[in-house]
Amino acid sequence: MRSSNQRYTFILLCPICYRKEKITVYRSEIEANEDKLKTVLIVHRDVNPPHEIKITIDQNGNIRSIHTKILDRLEVTPMKYSVALKIFPIVINSEAIKSTKDPFAKRILELSDGFHTIDDIAKELNVTRYEVINKIGELRREGKIDLTYTLYLSSEEVSL
Ligand SMILES: [Zn+2]
Repeated sequence: MRSSNQRYTFILLCPICYRKEKITVYRSEIEANEDKLKTVLIVHRDVNPPHEIKITIDQNGNIRSIHTKILDRLEVTPMKYSVALKIFPIVINSEAIKSTKDPFAKRILELSDGFHTIDDIAKELNVTRYEVINKIGELRREGKIDLTYTLYLSSEEVSL
């Protein structure tokens, strides 16, 4: 029996403003469409220039296409994209952020919002990946952090 609530989750890095969005689609809603594809529209209206991203996902959870559009323009830009499984640390209990005295550990906990990869955190804090992994290991043993594996979707303009 196939689970009817199977879902596909991606963290998308907006190629225009670099904001991250979480996209979740259920297999059942993709299958409900005649072409077995689901298009997700994300609109970033509060940035300059306002823009939207259109992502098409098939019933197997594969990305079929990504397009971007600047809202006041007509043309739609196809993007090339890559999908990679990445580790996203997530703080288990936000109280842990307050009670943590070590400033480095505190910053890691603050950035462990499910939208920052280990590399993102290292970059943000201007430290090595190794230092972040080490501290995350400690925080994990203290029961403050959990690690989730999520597909990370990044894209860039197709160069001609
Ligand atoms: Zn954006």
